Amino acid sequence: MDIEQFRKAGYQAIDRICDYYYSLNEQSVISKVEPGYLREHIPLAAPEKGEDMQVIADDYQKYIIPGLTHWQHPKFFAYFPTAGSFESIIADLYASSVSNPGFNWSCSPACTELEVIVMDWAAKLLGLSPDFYNSSGVGGGCIQTTASDSVLVAVVAARSLYQRNYPDTKMEDLVIYTTTQTHSLGAKAALILGLQVKTLEVTAEDRFALRGEGLRSALQEDERGGRKPFILIATVGTTSSGAVDNIPEIREVVKDYPSLWVHIDAAWAGVALSCDEYRKELYLDEINSFANSFCTNFHKWGLVNFDCSTLWVRDRKHLTDALDITPPFLRTKHGDAGTVIDFRNWHLALGRRFRSLKMWFVFRGFGAEGFREYIRRCIRLNEIFVGLIEQSNTLSLVTQPSLALTVFRVSPMPESSNQAALSTQSLNELNRLFFGRLSSKTDIMLTQTTLNGTFCVRLAVGSAHTTEKHVHEAFALVSEEAKIALELWKQTFQGAAVVG
Ligand SMILES: *Cc1c(COP(=O)(O)O)cnc(C)c1O
Repeated sequence: MDIEQFRKAGYQAIDRICDYYYSLNEQSVISKVEPGYLREHIPLAAPEKGEDMQVIADDYQKYIIPGLTHWQHPKFFAYFPTAGSFESIIADLYASSVSNPGFNWSCSPACTELEVIVMDWAAKLLGLSPDFYNSSGVGGGCIQTTASDSVLVAVVAARSLYQRNYPDTKMEDLVIYTTTQTHSLGAKAALILGLQVKTLEVTAEDRFALRGEGLRSALQEDERGGRKPFILIATVGTTSSGAVDNIPEIREVVKDYPSLWVHIDAAWAGVALSCDEYRKELYLDEINSFANSFCTNFHKWGLVNFDCSTLWVRDRKHLTDALDITPPFLRTKHGDAGTVIDFRNWHLALGRRFRSLKMWFVFRGFGAEGFREYIRRCIRLNEIFVGLIEQSNTLSLVTQPSLALTVFRVSPMPESSNQAALSTQSLNELNRLFFGRLSSKTDIMLTQTTLNGTFCVRLAVGSAHTTEKHVHEAFALVSEEAKIALELWKQTFQGAAVVG
């Protein structure tokens, strides 16, 4: 393809992407293909001779789009949002056009310098302490691929710091602290690094948040057993239910355990810190006062297309002490002089995408005001859904809604049966039946979760294309399916399930 052919194919690609967005409303959210569907359409090896771009582009439409789940669909309410934006797509296109692995400042000064600046913009947008700004010269922020990478980097930095402070520590005594609600990234980091992980229990009464007391008694127990907890992964907005660990209580406990690194995983909810009114409930002041590292994914609810996970640390030296390897061929004049940041020492890989461009385009295109308005709109839409659930006599909330996330389930009203006698198991049967019906619909997508043994359904608002109408349609469908599931369940399960 030459430049003029690229121009033509590029215009067509943009046209088709626009058509795709216009058509989203009419598409089903969930792909209808069966496993292995693509094998029939695509040869077993790459072609020997180059093919015409038009044919390739047509095959994308024909074979790939039908196999996509449309995360930007207005009725995508599953997992967590991946709110993309056109601003971000354009930036990605530019970034891709210069295909630049920017690992050292000198690889492309703009890549590093823009990242240094927009990470400070982002820190300011979220209200993070100036301690975390790159301009502080001590702390700083850097874009990682995912929250899992961010945690891995934090764990490696924390471990290295701990081992430097306590050189006699044995690797097998080191423990990573998580809770039952921590994203699997905690267990994954432990697996990768060959470390122990401790999973602290949390309760429904505490809204699935880690409390100080539980943390303290676990630390005391490990201290007695000679184990060395060196990092706590605390969550602000769990994936399952949006639970927020009790950061003020954690801070009090950590005062007695200063060698415990506290990483805040706010992968999904962190961007809501851009709005003043959520800062208190997400414990911004406390995070600012003591957390060692903080991560949120702008690629989730933050309008930046995947990927863009932002990680801030209070002391960048802990990253570079753990991760700086400088073979002779990577040495540069500026790096040696310490006048520039070489981000390769702040993460796992050497090369890195030019992701700061996406943040820059999004922050400028929306403005802080537009960004906050977007977050608030998603929360308002979720509040509408919550209001409808609260008025329903078949559905109820399992735990308090969190920002733009609702966890709910079918729960029959007392008059329809002697509910007091319904076992958890029996209600779970009902809700599995309900969710089974919901997930067979292709025009909406929600996901399930289990909270301390209670099976429930999650609705997460976040697509930039979701409106009030879609939320009402979602509720109508959910409540219709709840009624049907309830009837079916009464016929099949109830006789056997009711005890006494
Ligand atoms: C989504 C999510 C993650 C994982 O994110 P990746 O960027 O895919 O690794 C981690 N923690 C929380 C709280 C999440 O919601």
